[in-house]
Amino acid sequence: MDVKASVRSYQLVSLRNYKLYFTFCIACLVILFTSCEKKTNLVPPSNGRTDFTPTIIKTSAGKEMVQIPGGWFEMGSKKKNESPVHKVWVDSFLMDRCEVTQDEYEKLIAGNPSHFKGAKNPVEQISWSNAVLYCNARSRKENLKPCYDEETGKCNFSANGYRLPTEAEWEYACRSGTKTDYFFGRDTSQLKDYAWFADNSTNKTQPVGQKKPNQWELYDMYGNVAEWCNDIYSESYYSNSPEKNPQGPDKGKKYILKGGSWNSSAESCRSSYRIGEDPGFQDACFSRDDIGIRCVRIASKSTSLNTGNSNFQLISLNPPNPLFQRGNSMLSFQRGNGTISPFSKGDKGDLKSTQNQKSSKLKTGFIYSDIYLKHKTGPRHPEKPQRLTAIVSSLEKYLSDENSKLQLIPPKPFSDTIDWLTTVHSPEYIERVKKSCQNREEYMDSIDTPISPESYEVAVMAVGGVLSAIDGVMNGKIKNAFCAVRPPGHHSLRNKAMGFCIFNNVAIGARYIQKKYGLSKVLIVDWDVHHGNGTQDAFYNDPTVLYFSAHRSPFYPGTGYVDEKGIGKGLNYTINVEMTAGNGDINYKRVFENVLKPRAIEFDPDFVLISAGFDAHKDDPLGGMNVTANGYAEMTKIVKDIAEKCCDGRLVSVLEGGYSIDGLVESVEAHILILN
Ligand SMILES: [Zn+2]
Repeated sequence: MDVKASVRSYQLVSLRNYKLYFTFCIACLVILFTSCEKKTNLVPPSNGRTDFTPTIIKTSAGKEMVQIPGGWFEMGSKKKNESPVHKVWVDSFLMDRCEVTQDEYEKLIAGNPSHFKGAKNPVEQISWSNAVLYCNARSRKENLKPCYDEETGKCNFSANGYRLPTEAEWEYACRSGTKTDYFFGRDTSQLKDYAWFADNSTNKTQPVGQKKPNQWELYDMYGNVAEWCNDIYSESYYSNSPEKNPQGPDKGKKYILKGGSWNSSAESCRSSYRIGEDPGFQDACFSRDDIGIRCVRIASKSTSLNTGNSNFQLISLNPPNPLFQRGNSMLSFQRGNGTISPFSKGDKGDLKSTQNQKSSKLKTGFIYSDIYLKHKTGPRHPEKPQRLTAIVSSLEKYLSDENSKLQLIPPKPFSDTIDWLTTVHSPEYIERVKKSCQNREEYMDSIDTPISPESYEVAVMAVGGVLSAIDGVMNGKIKNAFCAVRPPGHHSLRNKAMGFCIFNNVAIGARYIQKKYGLSKVLIVDWDVHHGNGTQDAFYNDPTVLYFSAHRSPFYPGTGYVDEKGIGKGLNYTINVEMTAGNGDINYKRVFENVLKPRAIEFDPDFVLISAGFDAHKDDPLGGMNVTANGYAEMTKIVKDIAEKCCDGRLVSVLEGGYSIDGLVESVEAHILILN
C-alpha cells in the first residue's frame, strides 16, 4: 500500500480547500441572523394595489409562504426577448416569502454548497437539477406528494408538493399588480431599498428579508440571488404561448432565471427580465454563486383578488409530519435479525484476564487503504478523498517508525466482508447500490450522497476496515484501533443512503462483534455533529446495543431529540443529547462525564465503538460548533476509560464526518495519541 505517494499528490489541494473552508466558517459565525419571519406585523404597503392583502401561512417546517391569488396580468416588455407584452392568467398558488436559506437547505440536505456562507443567506451554487431534488426532499419531509420525476426532471403540476415557479407565476408574483419596469415604479434610484444588487451588495449575497418587500410581501424578488424557474428558456416563446398558466416550451437546453442577483445591474433586476442558463444536469461541478431558489406549491384553498382582508393573516398549515415527530418511528422498521449468542459473565471474565496481560504492550491499529480514495464525490463536495490523505500524511511520522505505537492495518478483503452487510442492510438495497454504481449514476438516493463507479466496492471496504480492526482487537494483535475509512456510515439506513453515507460501517461492526465473537453488549458512542439516525434505527428496539449520540439539534438529519429513547425492549438503550450551535469543549466534556459515563458503566459493554465524526470542530464548514482538538482528546479519554473499566479496553473508533482538513487532521492526531 503506497500511502506516501497517494498522500503527496493531495496535499496541495487540501491546503487550498482548508483556506477556503476556514473563510466560509468565519463568515458563518459573524453573520447576524435576521429572519424574514420576524416581519409578519408589517402594515400592508400603500404604494401598490390596496384591494388585495396577502395571506401569509407558516409551513410545518416554519417557512413563511404567501398565498398568491389567481388573476390576470401583463407579462413581458417591449424588449427583444421579453416581447410581446401579453395577457396571462395564473391560478392561485403559495410562494416562499423569502429565498430558500442555507439553514433551511441544510436541514434537508447534508452539506451546504453555497459560496457565501451564512445561515440566513440564500443558498446558492444550486444547479436546476439540484433545485428540483431539493423541492422533492422538502415535499417528502412535509408528507406532500413530490412534483418531480427525479430521472427526467418532469414536473407533475397536479401534485401538492413543492416545485419551482413557472416563469409566469414568478413574474406575476413579482409584479404584484404593477405594470411598470419595477414593482415600485420606474425610478431605479429606489432599487436599493428593495434589492441587494451590484450597487449595494458589497459583492456578495446578504441575509434574506432585509430589504423592503413588494406589494404582496415577497422579499428579495430583485437581486440577492437569481431564482430558477421551472420553465425551459426560449427567446421566442411569448409569440404563441398559452393564455392560461403557461409552462414554457417542451424542449430546449436552458432554463429560466429571474430577478437578477447581487452582481446584477439595475436593468437585469426588472420584473420582466429573463435569461436562460444551463441547468447542470450532467455536470456535477456546475454551480454559480449568484443562483438560488424560491419554491411554490398549490394553494390550499383558492383565492382571487379582491378578497378585501384588511390585515395579515398568519395561519399554520400542514399538520406535523408523523415521520419526523419526536420519539417516533420512521425509525422502526427492521432492526437487525437477532440471533445473538449471549456470553456469560464468567466467560467474559476469562477473556478479560487473558487480554489484560498483553494489552499494555500492544499498539493502536490504524486502518487505511488507498482504495478509500476511489470513492469520488466531485470537486466541491466536502466529503472528499483529501480528508484521508491529509490524515495519513500527518500520521506518517508514527506509521513509518517501528518503535511508535501505531500500526498500519489493511481492511478485510471484499469477499470476507460482503456477507456481513445484511446484518444491517437489506439484500435489495445492497444490490441497488451495486447497480447504481455500475450504471454510473451520479448519486445514491439523495443529492448529498454522490457516487462514482467504484463507490460500491469502496463502501464495502469501509465496512471491511471496521471488521479488520475488530479482528485485530479480538485476536489480541492490537490494543484498540482507529479506522480512517470513507464513505462514512452513521446516516445510512437499512434501505437507504443519505448524508454522504452508503453502508453503516459502525452498525455492521456491532453486529459482527456479537455474531462472530459472541459478545453480547456493544456500546456505540457517536460524537459526530450530526445525529446518527441510521445507527439509532438499526438498534432502536435492541437492548444489546447502547447507542449514545451527542449532536447539534435541531440540525440535519432532523432526528435525535432527547425523547427518542428506543422502543420495546430497546427502551432507554438509545440516548440522545441535543447540543446547541456554538457549544464547545466544556459543554461536550460535561455531557460525556455526566450523561454518558454513568449510563455506560451501568450498561457494562463488552466492546466499545466510536462513531468519530470531527465536524463539531470549531473550523468545520458545516458543523457550527466550537470543539477543539483538545476537546476531542478529552472525549477520547472518557470513552477509553469506560472501555478499560468495562471490557479490557476493547475499543474501535471509526471516522464519520469532519470537513475542515486542518481541523480534522489535528483532531484525529489528538484522538489517536490518547487511544494509545
Ligand atoms: Zn456529520
